[in-house]
Amino acid sequence: MRLLTVLTELGPRACGEFEGFYVDLHLADPTLPNSVKGILALGSEGVRRASAALPKGTEKYDPAEAVLLAPVPDPAKIVCLGLNYRDHAAESKMDVPTEPILFSKYATTLIGHNAPIILPPASTEVDYEAELVIVIGVGGRAIPRERALEHVGGYAVGHDVSARDWQLGKPGKQWMAGKTFDTFAPVGPAVVTADEVPDPQALGIRLRLNGKTMQDSNTNQLVFPVDEIVAYLSNIFTLEPGDLIFTGTPPGVGMARQPPVWLQPGDIVEVEIDGLGTLRNPVIRR
Ligand code: MN
Repeated sequence: MRLLTVLTELGPRACGEFEGFYVDLHLADPTLPNSVKGILALGSEGVRRASAALPKGTEKYDPAEAVLLAPVPDPAKIVCLGLNYRDHAAESKMDVPTEPILFSKYATTLIGHNAPIILPPASTEVDYEAELVIVIGVGGRAIPRERALEHVGGYAVGHDVSARDWQLGKPGKQWMAGKTFDTFAPVGPAVVTADEVPDPQALGIRLRLNGKTMQDSNTNQLVFPVDEIVAYLSNIFTLEPGDLIFTGTPPGVGMARQPPVWLQPGDIVEVEIDGLGTLRNPVIRR
């Protein structure tokens, strides 16, 4: 099923997509938590109960009017991998990593489908990156690789917006600052639960800038696959329900082009992943 977080007069509401509407799950079944994170924390049982609640929904939101937040708007962690597609490492003139390259974003980066990416005055080199996002369901630590997928609640389309002048131009080769300006992590529209994604390493992934295709690849190009990422990270910290893991971007980013392409006010960026949907965000300067 597709789980979303809709901002309503009642505040953020966990919803499931059903017959063309977003159905408020907690109002359909008050025993369900009113958060996507809370539902995913219940594992496959939570998904089963949420699916069963959908036809009983009393409150439905029209997708044409609903304001979407990121499907998990308040994760405990947003962990990101860099250089996790072989071809992207090559276009970045960096070696294919032998272990995951990690950085973080903060929850203040998160925005939902259709919300604006705000270009910060401090950067003149803001770039785009299409990414598959892993959403943790049942938490755990020191998870063996062969059980790692049991801890994945679902997947979402993500966009790792990146200020290259901050990512690459600051002392110490630090990446984090360039990656975590406010609004730099669009995610959505929905989390698609893992039961509907039989192979996360076989998904076409594309990014369009103002309708023009800039990235076009497949998650079969991932250097570190989903199960290995989850197992690796769980040896560092406890993975908790709703944690988001950005898995890296394929080739075609703006900094690798001649001349480079940077996001401009008025741009529209769409990231599309097979079976997960299309995440669309306008770009503004404020
Ligand atoms: Mn990235």
